[in-house]
Amino acid sequence: MKEELKFDVLIIGGGLAGLSSAIHLSKSNLSVLVIEKNSYPKHKVCGEYISNEVLPYLKFLDIDVFSLGAKKIERFQLSTTQSKLLYTTLPLGGFGISRFCLDHALAKKALEVGSEILEDSVEDIQFSNDEFLVETKKSNKFKAKIVIGAYGKRSNLDIKLNRQFIKRKSPYLAVKMHVKGDFADDVVALHNFEGGYCGVSKVENDNINLCYITNFNVFKKFKDIQDFQKNVVYKNNFLKDILSNTVPVFEEPLTISQISFDAKKPVENHIIMCGDTAALIHPLCGNGMSMAICSAQIASRLIIKYFNSETSDREALEKQYLREWNSAFKSRLKTGHIVANLFNQPRLSEVLMRGLKWFPSVLPFIIRRTHGKVMSIE
Ligand SMILES: Cc1cc2nc3c(=O)[nH]c(=O)nc-3n(C[C@H](O)[C@H](O)[C@H](O)COP(=O)(O)OP(=O)(O)OC[C@H]3O[C@@H](n4cnc5c(N)ncnc54)[C@H](O)[C@@H]3O)c2cc1C
Repeated sequence: MKEELKFDVLIIGGGLAGLSSAIHLSKSNLSVLVIEKNSYPKHKVCGEYISNEVLPYLKFLDIDVFSLGAKKIERFQLSTTQSKLLYTTLPLGGFGISRFCLDHALAKKALEVGSEILEDSVEDIQFSNDEFLVETKKSNKFKAKIVIGAYGKRSNLDIKLNRQFIKRKSPYLAVKMHVKGDFADDVVALHNFEGGYCGVSKVENDNINLCYITNFNVFKKFKDIQDFQKNVVYKNNFLKDILSNTVPVFEEPLTISQISFDAKKPVENHIIMCGDTAALIHPLCGNGMSMAICSAQIASRLIIKYFNSETSDREALEKQYLREWNSAFKSRLKTGHIVANLFNQPRLSEVLMRGLKWFPSVLPFIIRRTHGKVMSIE
């Protein structure tokens, strides 16, 4: 019988979390396999605004987003369903870059530093005798000492692993498109409409990314995306203006559904979960990508210690990961839930927005509560 190839670390999913860990771990001379079901480059449904908190770590990973064309973003615009507008300066700022570009750059860097990337889909993970056996759709089998689950919001594997959140239906769906037209380079906007909100910001090549999330119960009353936009999204004057005065770059918008914000476990069946596989913060916070990259750093540092025998055993590694993950993300997730719930109630959010106009310092305070500190590379 053919012997399975063996790696120190096998990473399921080559998005931001998976690829950041791959680069970090390969730089420490661990043998790393990333299994990613799609090929690069590929567009993803995402607001594509990233907080500057990740910049030092991206530098450590040798990724310069500005040489890839990222736009510096310093201002935040928020409008209500009634098209009332608020502006603030972002406490930390951020940048706009497409996932098409960023994930591709990370994948190229991962290969350059020695990670292997296999285009295949993981179908099964077994853990016994202190190691993992991973099987793929194309019948590849691999052994690994450590497995990182970085396969995003939702996957066949969540059913296989019997994760609790996957058993509950979620009503959220999202639509994303790139368009060409006028929009300030340094602004990220969050425009509300009944039953949802839309993020708008520039990315490389002067494209404007529009990405909105809404509730399926509102969406299903309309015959298609165009019909929904004309009857619901256009009620916000800012969105009407952007959508009717720009030219689409994609033939069709991208869509995803069943987006769940339910709690998940950051370690399951001994798999270290990173990024959205561990938890998804509400997109209105604009912090999911930073959390994915930051959780990859936490996992990578601890895994390196484990291989250097600075951690006593697997149990200690898992406990430490849980501790550090909770300390980094628990409170941002909680604030994100509270803010999203408020936005879900149109009347209340209108009143709150008026209040924010009177107390302008509250908005940067909320932004700070949903974001982390600038990542250290010590
Ligand atoms: C509508 C919306 C807007 C958002 N806007 C923003 C924003 O503006 N700013 C921000 O910071 N965050 C935003 N987010 C959140 C952000 O997109 C995610 O937090 C981020 O993509 C997480 O990265 P990840 O690496 O965990 O997952 P992903 O980027 O989803 O990567 C997971 C990878 O795993 C692969 N995969 C899945 N299953 C398997 C399998 N079985 N085998 C092999 N590969 C597999 C997938 O193909 C994918 O490439 C938004 C999210 C949504 C839904």
